[in-house]
Amino acid sequence: MKSFDYVRPTTVAEAIAAMASPGAAFLASGTNLLDLMKTGAARPGRLVDITRLAGLDRIERLADGGFRIGALVRNADLAHDAAFFRAFPAVAEALLSGASAQLRNAATVGGNLMQKTRCAYFYDPASACNRRDPGSGCDALEGENRLHAVLGWSPSCIAVHPSDFCVPLVALDAAVEIEGRDGRREIALEALHRLPGDAPARETGLAPGELVTGLHLPASAAAFASHARYLKLRERTSYAFAVVSAAAALDIEDGTIRAARLALGGVAAKPWRARAAEQDLAGASPGPAAFRRAAEAALADARPSGDNGFKIELARRLVARALSLAARGTPQRLPALPGSPFSSHPGAVS
Ligand code: SF4
Repeated sequence: MKSFDYVRPTTVAEAIAAMASPGAAFLASGTNLLDLMKTGAARPGRLVDITRLAGLDRIERLADGGFRIGALVRNADLAHDAAFFRAFPAVAEALLSGASAQLRNAATVGGNLMQKTRCAYFYDPASACNRRDPGSGCDALEGENRLHAVLGWSPSCIAVHPSDFCVPLVALDAAVEIEGRDGRREIALEALHRLPGDAPARETGLAPGELVTGLHLPASAAAFASHARYLKLRERTSYAFAVVSAAAALDIEDGTIRAARLALGGVAAKPWRARAAEQDLAGASPGPAAFRRAAEAALADARPSGDNGFKIELARRLVARALSLAARGTPQRLPALPGSPFSSHPGAVS
């Protein structure tokens, strides 16, 4: 392993200043970065340990009913926060469907947003990978690619973003708080992750040295709390990334969908907001016909990037299932296996 500096600042300003060193990387719980360093896929010259930064470990309910979540809040702590679950149950379900209990206890909210793709070639320095080593090629194109992208990909990179958490967050218009040398700013989470285009190594909209300090969920997102689900198809029942996933949230009044939110995971290099499907659902009666139409709209632009054409129909069916379960009502308690599309839990409209 390449040797590196280690610094542990106590303020955000110190952390941002420490990132001026060439090859510096932020370190929180390290559940992704340390894996990358062990394989040699990441070789930082300096680790800036942000775990002692004050004030980034709080879950705050705002006066307007929204929530602010510090970047260092642990995934498990957020998922089990009762007030947060009541307001944003699909987000809690997504968190609890991810990784393992041990990882959820360690991993942070900010780290979840910033995690790298799980494309196996990205983790193997002997493989060609434009995302890790720009201009080197993409071994996934002719390789093992059945879990790769079906939306928004380019010949430069067909990788997918692995987060569960980000999928309902994007559906619910979450925003990201960022601090850097030029001060503080806030952007929509949907704008944080980038599609590969011809520059897949540029994965996010962050400027060099910028730090994600928190996440903001607007009060308006809580209007969907009664009809919200996150479903995840995976190759094992736990501790596996999504083959495809869907976050569905409905605002239903008098038997009509007033508004819908829908996003997909495991299909693109970013969580994929399905706005055309949302528009189709607005004003419709909840039911199989409307949900199938929405699923068709959500995947209208999908095309295989390799041996993964099966994911397109799988995603359509998962979208329809997620909408159907959301329409039945958010469960009062999460199913024993959060995110399972096979759960027979009937839901309970409140
Ligand atoms: Fe690298 Fe992307 Fe190709 Fe995977 S799909 S090898 S991450 S360029």
